[in-house]
This record gives sequence, C-alpha cells and structure tokens, in this order.
Amino acid sequence: MQLKFKGLVAISIFTLIALIGIQGYLIYNTYELKKKTFSIDARMAISKVYYTKEVDSIMWLYRNDFFTQLEALKKGEISKKDALQRLKQKTEEINPGFLAVYKKGMEAEMPGVDIQFKKSVSSISVSDSLGNTDTLYKEDDPDKIMLLGENFDSQNAALITYSNWQEDHDFVNNGNPDFFKLNFKTSIFMNVLNWNSVLTKELSVLFVASCLLFLFVVGLLYYSIQNLMKQKRVAEIKTDFINNITHELKTPLSTLSLATKTLTSEHANGNKEIADGAVQIIDRQNTRLQKLIDQVLQSSLGYQEIQLSKETFNGSIFMNELLDDYLLSVNSSEIKLHRNIDSTGIALEADKFYLSTAIINLLNNAIKYGGTELTVSYGIDKTDSTHYISIKDNGIGISPKYQRFIFEKFYRVSEKDTHNYKGLGLGLYYTKQIIKAHGGSISVESEANKGSIFTIKIPII
Ligand code: ATP
Ligand code: MG
Repeated sequence: MQLKFKGLVAISIFTLIALIGIQGYLIYNTYELKKKTFSIDARMAISKVYYTKEVDSIMWLYRNDFFTQLEALKKGEISKKDALQRLKQKTEEINPGFLAVYKKGMEAEMPGVDIQFKKSVSSISVSDSLGNTDTLYKEDDPDKIMLLGENFDSQNAALITYSNWQEDHDFVNNGNPDFFKLNFKTSIFMNVLNWNSVLTKELSVLFVASCLLFLFVVGLLYYSIQNLMKQKRVAEIKTDFINNITHELKTPLSTLSLATKTLTSEHANGNKEIADGAVQIIDRQNTRLQKLIDQVLQSSLGYQEIQLSKETFNGSIFMNELLDDYLLSVNSSEIKLHRNIDSTGIALEADKFYLSTAIINLLNNAIKYGGTELTVSYGIDKTDSTHYISIKDNGIGISPKYQRFIFEKFYRVSEKDTHNYKGLGLGLYYTKQIIKAHGGSISVESEANKGSIFTIKIPII
C-alpha cells in the first residue's frame, strides 16, 4: 500500500514535469514561429515604405551631390577623403527628412512596433573609360558611413538586403568630355527595439492560459493526493481502533469465562466462598466492560452534543480539590505532583463534572505516557483574558509531526513508537470536545523524549 501510494505520487509528479516540458517546448516553438512571421512582416513593411517615390527623391538629393563631388575628385580639385566627408555631410542633412517619412510610413504599416532602419555604405569604387578602378571606400573600413536611418549597432541587427547602385556618368573635364562608372554598394539593416514586448504581448494569452491550466492540474493533483492520504490515515486509524478495542475486550471476557467456569464447578461442589469470589469477579468485569462501552459511546460525542450545566466557582479551590482526589486514586508514592495554583480572584464558569473529566484525561495521559513528575498550573492569562490550566509531564513526549493529529478521534501515535501503552485514542478527542463546548481551546507543546505540556484555556466570562 505504502509503496503503491509512493509510486503513484512519483508517477504523477513525473507526468507533471513532462507536461511542463512539453508545454514549454510548444510555447518556445510558437515564440520562434511568431518571431519569424514578425520578421517577414517587418521586412515587407520596410519595403513598402522604402521603395516609394518620396524616398527615392530624397535619395537623389545625396546621389546628385555625390556625382558633383566625384567630378571634382576626377578633376583633382578635392581628395577622396573630402568626397566621402561631403557625402557624410549631405546625408546627415537629408536624414531628418527621410526619418520623418520612414516613421510615418512604418506607423501606418505596423503601428506600435518600433523598428529602426539603417542604410549604410558597404563599398564605393569608380572606374574610368580604360577600366582602371579606383576604390574610395572598402567594406572593412573602420570608419563606417551611414547614409540614412538611425545609427544602431549592426551586430545585433538583421540584414534586410544589399543593393548596388551602378551608374555611368559623363561630364566635362577641363573642356574635354570625360566619363566614369560608379559602383556604390549599400546594405540595409533593421533593428526591432521592442521585440520581446511585441511577441510577449501576442503570446501572453497563450502563456497565461497554459499557466492557469497547469495550476489547475497541480491543484487537482494536490487535492487528490491530500484526499488519498486522509483516507489512508482514516483506514489506518480504524484498523488500530479495532485492534485496540478487541484487545481491551479480550481480558475481561476471558476473565469472565474463567469465573463462570469456576462458579459452575464450585457451585456443584457446594463451595460457597469460592463461588461468591467468582460472582464478585464477574461483577467487576461486567462493570469494566460497561465502562469500556460507555467510554466509547460517550467519548465519541462531538462538542455540540455535550450538554453543559455551568456553575460559577473558585478555580483554585476546584483545582486543589481535584488534585487531592486524583492523588488518592493513583499510586502517589511513584508520582511527584507540583502545584502552581494561583488564587486568581476571578471566578471560573464551567461545568465542574465535564471540566474534571477533561483534566483527569490529561493527568491520566501524563502518567500513562511515562510521566513521574507532574506540574499542574492554574492562573489567569491577561493577554487573551482566559483561565489557563496546564499539565506538564516528564514523559515520552510527542514528536511535532504527530502533534496536529492527537486531538482527532481514535488517533494514537504510531504503535512502534509507543508500544505497551493501551488506549483507544479517544481521551484527547473527548477532552478537546469538552473544552470546545466551553468556548475554550487546548494546545500542546512537546518534543520526543522531553515531556509534554498540555494547556487548556477557558475564557473569562
Ligand atoms: P484513551 O485515552 O482513549 O484511552 P490514548 O491515551 O491512546 O487512549 P489520547 O488520550 O487521545 O488516546 O491520546 C492520543 C495519543 O497522544 C496517545 O496515543 C499518545 O500517543 C499521545 N499522548 C497523549 N498524551 C500524551 C503525553 N502526555 N505524553 C506523550 N504522549 C501523549
Ligand atoms: Mg488518553
């Protein structure tokens, strides 16, 4: 049973983990897919905005200017560096105009998404009519030339396309017709600033739904396991109770049968004295059986079924009398009892009979579970306005893991830990019901092998 149960829990947990894995994988895949689609959408939007007449006319502003610079270069009026410098200046001038057009266009295409655009120079070379090529700018030049857009780091950005602007250009050089061919290579990049927030927004519904579903399954599993454990415990407690009660009944029954036999035979022999003894034994065992049955019946009562007849009395006198009587009924030479009884001056309102039963149950337990030195205290707890009665023993104690169960009906601390102690597991249950009927509470402080303190609290009326 134990093994089966543990296996079941292990399989459930394993299944749950597998479920998380699969769910996580699916969400990740959806994320990647969305990213791809989003990237395609973004490229298309950029194409739509970029390949327009408006942008084209903006670009011709720097292109025309660049031709003028190249002519001057060919004429030897400026250096290569000057030509490139001038290109940079010109593009810087026209960039704000381009950005305005771009941003407006993108906002219309993909509202709410921040996609940066950058067009930068990859290489520039010029060839003359003889086929001699002069390189103005090389791909690996550390001094990058940005043409249009925003100057972000290309490292983490996506390359959209390369483009190649090739054009033959005729001009007049010192009165003679001249010609050069321009080869101007550019790269276009895009950089999505709010990648994650865009995608998570889209995936959040899926993610939240998955989480909720998962939590629901975990909750269901937790509830089922909890229920299973409860049922298992109830089943164990019932078995224990049946074992205990059978054990308790066995002794008086076998004594009864022995006594009956004696009575029958001695009756026949006419031995009145022995026969009378047997009758007394039968009577005692009968009373014991009756008591046992009463205990089961009575102690099974819930606090709502307990009918109290309360009276007002002096708590310290009541406690002292109760302890005096109790000491008479136990072997007081083996038990040391210390009293800490305060004269509180505040009357206790309770049902004397029931309250005594509750306290005696605690005293009986204290002695039954190994206590030889008991301290009984009574007083007023000002913090919560209650009368407290506490019983401290130096017995075997109760390990914390069992403490929350001991007030349950039929519960007894597992047999292997407390063998040899007979009982039905009803004493503390009944005690708690009595205290509850008085509107009070009962608590325990204990550690294994360190004794226990049980404290009853009854509100001051
Ligand atoms: P019953 O009182 O019905 O004859 P019981 O003593 O076993 O049987 P409870 O009085 O309800 O039942 O106590 C429940 C369990 O709590 C006990 O089985 C025992 O293990 C533990 N227990 C109670 N009081 C003490 C104590 N003073 N010291 C150590 N263990 C205790
Ligand atoms: Mg008991």
